[in-house]
Amino acid sequence: MLRTLLIYLSQANWARKMVTQWRFTRAAASRFVAGDTLKEALSATMQLNAKGFWGTLDLLGENVDNREGAIASAEAYSAVLHALENENIKAGISLKLTQLGLGFDYDLCQENLIHILEVASACNNFVRIDMEESALLENTLRIFKRVRAMGNQNVGVVIQSYLKRSEQDVLDLLDIGANIRMVKGAYREPANIAYSRKRDVDANFDLLVRHMIDYAALNSSSPGDGKIPPTTVIATHDEKRIIIARDHARELGLTKSQLEFQFLYGIRPNLQVKMANEGYPVRIYIPYGTQWYPYFVRRLAERPANLWFFLSNLVRR
Ligand SMILES: Cc1cc2nc3c(=O)[nH]c(=O)nc-3n(C[C@H](O)[C@H](O)[C@H](O)COP(=O)(O)OP(=O)(O)OC[C@H]3O[C@@H](n4cnc5c(N)ncnc54)[C@H](O)[C@@H]3O)c2cc1C
Repeated sequence: MLRTLLIYLSQANWARKMVTQWRFTRAAASRFVAGDTLKEALSATMQLNAKGFWGTLDLLGENVDNREGAIASAEAYSAVLHALENENIKAGISLKLTQLGLGFDYDLCQENLIHILEVASACNNFVRIDMEESALLENTLRIFKRVRAMGNQNVGVVIQSYLKRSEQDVLDLLDIGANIRMVKGAYREPANIAYSRKRDVDANFDLLVRHMIDYAALNSSSPGDGKIPPTTVIATHDEKRIIIARDHARELGLTKSQLEFQFLYGIRPNLQVKMANEGYPVRIYIPYGTQWYPYFVRRLAERPANLWFFLSNLVRR
């Protein structure tokens, strides 16, 4: 109920206008967001690199609704790729297709993505397409498969274990050797298409990750080399899910670099260090930019304690 309300608020313009006026909110968001500018994000990434983590940079700003904005997002991402290359920073990028125009012009979105992939390829880098609401899933997978079929191998996608259809999607994607990041899912979805109980989402997560690991073992999937991640990417802060995945991969004899664990910036740093100390590649998802509101409210929705902390500070002020 609370999660549903918060996810609604993350998408409501009136709430964004009100909440982003409070200076305190920006300070609270800084726990999850690396800064307003690329410079700040690069600096945060270098600090994480120094601790042995890879990064994936997310320029915040979803649901762009005009052509100029979508093209500007593609240019901004190209600039990020060049900056990573020039400064020898260990990070790729994660983007949302609604930033590139998916919400209003499918072809423009695909063109923008192809442009980014060309730049990424010239920089020997990798692009992850984040997954948004289920209404966008078909088109997101269609564009992903299309750009891959055009020869772009430096691109991966995300699957959400809360969706009931995800097992079929994972199997289809594995059939073409796709690079998948598995997550639980961060949006509000109707009960007919998504599991609502945590234990069902978790059980599906374990099942889908098992498929990915089985595939990696059967096909001797190549290890990641940092810049290009391995095909099996597990993105959760849920230690139980991580251990189940790690143990299954061990049983099947996968090397550590055939898996990658990913975490969000600022969440469970001790677990991030623990997995890196065990010798696994660990990548941190690093959001930055001024459009932090929806991302921040989704993080509040995931954990009631974050919300109470935020509200109690707000009241104190
Ligand atoms: C690298 C990465 C990329 C992602 N990309 C996408 C995407 O493309 N599409 C999408 O829908 N979702 C994405 N997500 C978000 C994901 O779907 C979940 O909403 C989010 O990861 C919380 O679920 P969890 O797996 O950590 O498990 P949970 O069961 O929610 O959490 C497990 C534990 O982690 C800690 N934790 C979790 N969230 C928080 C938080 N916000 N603040 C503090 N502690 C927390 C708590 O200790 C909690 O008990 C991504 C997540 C990661 C890590």
